[in-house]
Order: sequence, then C-alpha cells, then structure tokens
Amino acid sequence: MSRVDVLSERLIEFVARAASKISYDQRKLAAISGTSMYKIIVNVVNRVSDFISEDRNGLLWCRLCGRGPFTKRGLYLHLVRVHGFEIKDITEDELRRELTTAQK
Ligand SMILES: [Zn+2]
Repeated sequence: MSRVDVLSERLIEFVARAASKISYDQRKLAAISGTSMYKIIVNVVNRVSDFISEDRNGLLWCRLCGRGPFTKRGLYLHLVRVHGFEIKDITEDELRRELTTAQK
C-alpha cells in the first residue's frame, strides 16, 4: 500500500470528527501527518469534512446520503460506520491533488 493510502485510512476518524463538529487531538494528527505535511493535511481534513456534512440551523446532516438530522455523536458514528470507505476515497483523492500541486 502507498503512503497516501495508509494516511487516508488513518484520517477517516479525523474527517468524521471534524464533520460532526467534535474536536480532535491535533497532536495526534500532527504525529500521523509529520511536520512537513501537517498544514496540507489539516486543509484536506477541513475540506472533506465540509463536503460531507451540512449544518442547518445547528442540526447536522449527512451530505453523502442526505440523512439527518443527527446529533454530533450520531453523525460521527454514522459517517464512520456507513461511509468509512467513501470518506477514505475522497480524502485520498484530495491528498493526491494537494501533493501534486505542492510539488509544482
Ligand atoms: Zn450518510
């Protein structure tokens, strides 16, 4: 497996947390990303989490399947259990795009 693949897998949890407005451990994310990649990865986590969830007047909805409303915890569990693979795929695509752009 490639590094991006492994990384995306580990980012599912962080993306799902950010999408559910649950705080995540930034030091843990930094440890996974490595110093040089940290900024890129935070951007990717934010972008993917914005894309997969929607906050309508304080209620959270899943944009991948349109279900909702969820509590924070409810959306987190829904995202991880139902959309884990999709989140990994979207994150992986975004990461690859970011890394290609960064090299130019
Ligand atoms: Zn959903």
